[in-house]
Amino acid sequence: MNTFIACHLCRSGEDLRKSHILPEFFYKPMYDGKHRFLRLSSVLEEKDKNIQKGIRERLLCDACETKLSPYEKYVREVLYGGEELEVSSSGRFVYLHHLNYQKIRIFYLSVLWRMSIASGDFFQDVDLGPHEDKIRNMLLKEEPGAPEQYGFLCVAPLFDDNSLGDWIVQPHCTRLEQHKVYRALFGGLLYLYFVSSHKVNKIIKERFIQKNGDWSIMIETIRNIDFLNKFLTELSEKQQFV
Ligand SMILES: [Zn+2]
Repeated sequence: MNTFIACHLCRSGEDLRKSHILPEFFYKPMYDGKHRFLRLSSVLEEKDKNIQKGIRERLLCDACETKLSPYEKYVREVLYGGEELEVSSSGRFVYLHHLNYQKIRIFYLSVLWRMSIASGDFFQDVDLGPHEDKIRNMLLKEEPGAPEQYGFLCVAPLFDDNSLGDWIVQPHCTRLEQHKVYRALFGGLLYLYFVSSHKVNKIIKERFIQKNGDWSIMIETIRNIDFLNKFLTELSEKQQFV
């Protein structure tokens, strides 16, 4: 008996591809043999199998994979090279200028949406409820929306002045003031997605990517980021940190 499962995005395509929840490039250092996150994780040792399972799920049809792939390519080139960047910095912030607003927004919203529809345990804390379908429609129409509509902050945590490279930490739902915030660390960068019907304050809003393509990334030592610091302490206690 064949059960028809439609594509999660267009809801009509079949023959679903095994899609990545997080794009492959965020896992690449692991595939290269470092496996640092998996080896070091104190919290997720038991969940390795789930992580593996959560890497791919049958989510999208061929046409939808193809539709989203240029967005993925653009962000890969912004983060890992290939796209010329205009960068400046001031204090704890690095500013990226003239990014492609639509491509950045669609890509990061597609990651949030994929984490929500994923059934693997690794993404169990991401559940967008009614927002899931709203984001699906934005992706389907390739409409990036306004900066504050499901806005996201990016923080670059540093450990002993080094970036976290290939770190991936299980996403969690948390609260910041009256907002529901999904916190996800992948590719060594921490993202905070604001999924809220309340208006975010001006200071936060200014840190979302702007329509002119300016995006400010906050640099922060890992010890000032509570949950990462806790994570690190647990690792040190287990003397697994190398
Ligand atoms: Zn589709």
